Parts: sequence; C-alpha cells; structure tokens
Amino acid sequence: MFTRRRCLEASCVALLTSGVAEAQDVIAERRERMAREIERDARATAEYTGRSTLAANVMAAMRKVPRHQFVPADLALMAYDNRPLPIGEGQTISQPFIVALMTDLVAPKKSDVVLEVGTGSGYQAAVLAECVARVYTIEIVRKLGERAAALLKQLGYSNVETRIGDGYAGWPDAAPFDAIVVTAAPDHVPQPLIDQLRAGGRMVIPVGEQGFSGQDLLVVEKSSDGQTVQRSTLPVRFVPLRRER
Ligand code: SAH
Repeated sequence: MFTRRRCLEASCVALLTSGVAEAQDVIAERRERMAREIERDARATAEYTGRSTLAANVMAAMRKVPRHQFVPADLALMAYDNRPLPIGEGQTISQPFIVALMTDLVAPKKSDVVLEVGTGSGYQAAVLAECVARVYTIEIVRKLGERAAALLKQLGYSNVETRIGDGYAGWPDAAPFDAIVVTAAPDHVPQPLIDQLRAGGRMVIPVGEQGFSGQDLLVVEKSSDGQTVQRSTLPVRFVPLRRER
C-alpha cells in the first residue's frame, strides 16, 4: 500500500528544499534514530574506546548537522542510516558513529582551533564547526574540496576555512591546533601533524595498511613537555591518505 507517509518519504528530498513541514518531520525523526544508534554503538564499543557515552556537545552537533545535504541527492534518504556512503571520486563519507566517536575523542571545546585532513563531503568539518571556534580543513581532490567549501558556506558555517592540497603537511600558517582529526589513513602518523599539535592537544587518526585487516583508530596526545603518547581504540576502514607527487 502506498501510504501518505511512504509518498512523503519518497518525495522528501524534493520537498525538503521547499521546507514542507512534514518532510522536515521525517528528517528529524531519522536523525533522532541515528543519534540513538550512535549512543548504542558507543555503549557497545566502550571497552575499546574508553567512552560509553559521548559528550553532550558532540551529540548535539550530530542531532543538528543536516547530513542529507552532504550526500549525493539520490542517497539523501539513506543519509541518516548509521553507515558510510559514497560521495563520488571514489571517496566515502564516514559512518555517523565513527564521525561522532572521532569528534568525541578529540574532546572539542568552544575555544578550540581544529585541523581536519580529508574534507570529503564537508560533513565532519560541519560537526566539528558546531563544537569549536574555528576549523581548518584540507582536501586533496579539488572537485570534492570545492563542492564542500560551497556547501559549508551555503549552510552558514563561516568558521570553517577550506584548502585544496596534501594534508600530510598540515596547515603550518594556521598552527598550532588544539585538535587534529585525520579522516584518510596513512601508514604512519605524519610528523608535520605532530609538530602542528599544540602541547596538551589531541589528534585522532586511522593508521595502517589498506586491506583485509583495516587500520587502527589512534588517539595521539601531546603533553605539555611536547612528548606524545598514543593509544589505539577501534579497528576501522578508511580510504588511504594519498600523497601529492
Ligand atoms: N571527512 C570526510 C570523509 C573523508 S573520506 C567527510 O566527512 O565526508 C577521506 C577524504 O580524504 C577523501 O575525500 C580523500 O580525497 C581525502 N584525502 C586523501 N588523501 C588526502 C591528503 N593527503 N590530503 C587531504 N585529503 C586527502
């Protein structure tokens, strides 16, 4: 049976742009379900991550950022499923739980300046932008970087700076950073990123080879004397960090 509700869901992408209240309700309901799944995943992985509940500011950001705007229009109805989705150019937007966890693991504060490597769709940058003062984000694929920059601007994220380039080298002129979030996987922690982390700062980064075993999501903390300690949390699977030739 093609109920009014299913009808609405099917056309909700188009309706959304016109701001129809019932379509907004469908989105709000899906986003809330996503938030509850994130909370459930956090409890299920607490033994590895050390976080059974995620910080209130992080969950508020997950409940606010319009993820359906960051995925291709034909996937908008899947935007609030707790899974990664393709965003073109062979790249993916991470699973919502992983975005929430990575944000939580850098313990973002309102006054923080954060670097993200791997802008992709711009979604992780938007989630960070809800939690901190300023976000610098670098993308190596021009088409993705430019699309994300335009979308972030359109959505009013005036505290996000975007750049096209190889994020392995960080963003020296904006350093040091209170936190660094790397969303593509290198086979080692890039030294320039360690150098650009403020003493007392936190970096979250998936490290390891591509392939069957995936990578390790590492938290790297820099102490006040400049020494770093790292701990591993979950096995994850990110696209590789590419290098500029
Ligand atoms: N954070 C993104 C998801 C990123 S997927 C989001 O929220 O949508 C990883 C991204 O890292 C891809 O877009 C890929 O092109 C980019 N990338 C890979 N190597 C990079 C590098 N060296 N510097 C910057 N970006 C890189």
